[in-house]
Amino acid sequence: MKRIIKFVKSVLKKFVKFALKHFSSWKTVRAKNKGSGYTYTGRDMPDYFSQVRQNYHELSNPFHYYQELVEALVRLDRFSIVPLVDLLSTPADNQRLLGLRHDIDADPITALRAARHLARYGVAGSFYLLHTAIYYGEFYNGVFVRNPLLLEWVRGFIVTGCEIGIHNDVLGADLNPGVDGSEAFKTELAWLRSLRANIRGTVGHNSLPIYGAENSEVFVGRKLWSRKELSPKGNTLPLESLSERLLNLQYEGTFARPKTKINLLEVRAFITEKEKASVRSEHWMKKYLLDNPYCDWETDYQFWLIGKNQWVAAGRFDGQTLFEFAIGIDRLIYLLNNLPEGSRSVLNIHPAYIRG
Ligand SMILES: [Zn+2]
Repeated sequence: MKRIIKFVKSVLKKFVKFALKHFSSWKTVRAKNKGSGYTYTGRDMPDYFSQVRQNYHELSNPFHYYQELVEALVRLDRFSIVPLVDLLSTPADNQRLLGLRHDIDADPITALRAARHLARYGVAGSFYLLHTAIYYGEFYNGVFVRNPLLLEWVRGFIVTGCEIGIHNDVLGADLNPGVDGSEAFKTELAWLRSLRANIRGTVGHNSLPIYGAENSEVFVGRKLWSRKELSPKGNTLPLESLSERLLNLQYEGTFARPKTKINLLEVRAFITEKEKASVRSEHWMKKYLLDNPYCDWETDYQFWLIGKNQWVAAGRFDGQTLFEFAIGIDRLIYLLNNLPEGSRSVLNIHPAYIRG
């Protein structure tokens, strides 16, 4: 008998140790819409956001930095701020067109705050939910479970009237064992639309050095060059596996377009610089935004917020080249003020950088 009790005790001990190790950051979360009566199992969100706080602490601006930016943008002369869906189709004439792109890689709460702030000014912003982010949902043995809080966030965005899109990560989703990334994307598109989110476009997450392809290349006609569809790790890439026309998507907001002439040696060299692929590397950003070996851009200028009061400005118009790295907000506004008439630009803001 003693032996049995000892055995049971040791098994229990092992189980508790295992559970603590593997499940301590998980708990049951009750959805906010209590009327539904559902309980879900999901990642502990306070724990998630404390990780985001730690990860972005060094890089993040206070939220009033964004408020200051918006104040300055609305005072710009001969400027039209348009949702990304309209950036290429709006006649530019004698004004400058600007799209406000928000890739929600990590922080949907700050993104929602930003969308509400823009709504107060009647300014159009575009917000892209990353369907592979932990805040959105996770795969468990091939089954995708959405974060129950997501529903309220999506409804919040809809109320602000901002443009909602998908931060496309088909290539990332596809890396999960047993998951078809393209199907996962279609499911999320349908789900968001079922909530009445008017999704008209996507922007690709990450860049080619990460996956061996741009996420935009999963759409028919957007492959940047013809090659064996294998990533550097040897897995098959689902390039051109989705039709934007059939999915009723009107644009792809990285605005990458194939080069008329491509130098594959240069492309390969750039891809193998994977470890250097960082928005905070001046060398890498110059190459990516200005001298990109695998694509050109349909827009004229891009302005990226990359840290504490630090922006990258890059682009070309009428043979004039612009590249400035780690500039502050005053210089950014000066450059915007002096953009040529007829130019189309994108301001790229990750909400995690304005969460302070
Ligand atoms: Zn992203």
